[in-house]
Amino acid sequence: MKLERARLRRLPAMDALLSDAAAQDLIQQHSRDLVLAALRAELDAARQAIMAGQKLDSAPAAIIQRARENLLGQQQPSLRPVINATGVIIHTNLGRAPLSEAANEAMRNAATGYSSLEFDLQSGERGSRLAHAADMLRDLVGAEDALVVNNNAAALVLILSALAKDREVVISRGQLVEIGGGFRIPAIMRQSGARLVEVGSTNRTVIGDYASALTEGSAMLLRVHSSNFKQIGFVQQPSLSELVSLAHERGLLAVDDLGSGTLIDTAQFGLDPEPTIQASLAAGVDLVCFSGDKLLGGPQAGIILGKAAAIGQLKAHPLARALRVDKLVYAALLATLDHYRRGEALERIPVWQMLARPLADIAETARAWTNPSGGCVIKGESTVGGGSLPGTTLPTWLLALDSAHPEALKTALRRADPPIIARIAGGRVLLDPRTVLAGQESALLQSLASLRETGG
Ligand SMILES: *Cc1c(COP(=O)(O)O)cnc(C)c1O
Repeated sequence: MKLERARLRRLPAMDALLSDAAAQDLIQQHSRDLVLAALRAELDAARQAIMAGQKLDSAPAAIIQRARENLLGQQQPSLRPVINATGVIIHTNLGRAPLSEAANEAMRNAATGYSSLEFDLQSGERGSRLAHAADMLRDLVGAEDALVVNNNAAALVLILSALAKDREVVISRGQLVEIGGGFRIPAIMRQSGARLVEVGSTNRTVIGDYASALTEGSAMLLRVHSSNFKQIGFVQQPSLSELVSLAHERGLLAVDDLGSGTLIDTAQFGLDPEPTIQASLAAGVDLVCFSGDKLLGGPQAGIILGKAAAIGQLKAHPLARALRVDKLVYAALLATLDHYRRGEALERIPVWQMLARPLADIAETARAWTNPSGGCVIKGESTVGGGSLPGTTLPTWLLALDSAHPEALKTALRRADPPIIARIAGGRVLLDPRTVLAGQESALLQSLASLRETGG
């Protein structure tokens, strides 16, 4: 107790701290009030550390330095760029799909100037924002019409509200999925006023199960792609064509929620085949919906394609206005779709660049990182993520950093500027070059080198 009291007495006084040149410097950069509050917080922390018998440098210079770091931290916005070294390509917590250069530029142009968002440049009259993406999507995949809303969850809400309210929607028990973040298909149905009719069993549903569940009150057969889990073993689902035939025989709608939705066949990269948008349309569905920022590699959006009559009903529903997207999303989406139109998606869209990146190229990058970091290269696996292609991985090469305290190293990486998000396996910190954007590589290497120097 005596010792603690002595240490408390030795803590610098606020006046002494404030008159220090380093503190005066801080006051120049911030304000006196902010610096005072930061120093007070550090003095409190120092006092508590003493009472708890912990070691904490409480020399004036150390206190002022910690106050400086805190003030700097406060200046950083909470939403910041990070370096994704996890090897998860569509990382939901890190913002899913990074945009292409062209999409980025289109967004900036739309953001900083005026645009033809709702203006028809041919006639000089008022136009519709809905036309932009619809024209492009019609050209790309031959859908009759298209509608873009805030995200794929919104697409489902709109489809069910506009086309199945107070009526029955028939769905296989194997497809009553939770997408993530508590978003469950049954809850969405309830919210939109549609009545859920479950058919089949968890692992097996046949077309006859759907047929025998249909009543006067049926509106729609809905297929939901099992995008974030995989069933193996004694498993069966009817084909989409069978569902469409049954729906149309009975005068009902066939709707396909693809989840990710891809225009490009994923099997060519050694991945499982993800159902394509083209295949859904070819099966004759009335509507297909998917996300803009999963495998499509564009901005967050929910894209609905299909028959003109059904899309027309969606456009006329009041929710269409509530769920519409802004000009920035249109700009980024059009630029992303343009890459597909030009046949350059694999070269220009980051998600596809990462998926298609040759293994030798990744190995070379990982090897180049060993020198500044002091790590070594090991074999590993990248994943697609974002509720796409569950259970399938891409072979990769990782930079492995040995450390006596891997958790501390991982934290130090996260505190770097920009923060580096890595993972730990087998007691080592692992960084996957596949998901590190070219423009971020030098910042990454600088942080790795300085952590190595400081023994982080
Ligand atoms: C991801 C996903 C959704 C939700 O899409 P968001 O764009 O995230 O709203 C809906 N259905 C399926 C099958 C999905 O995979």
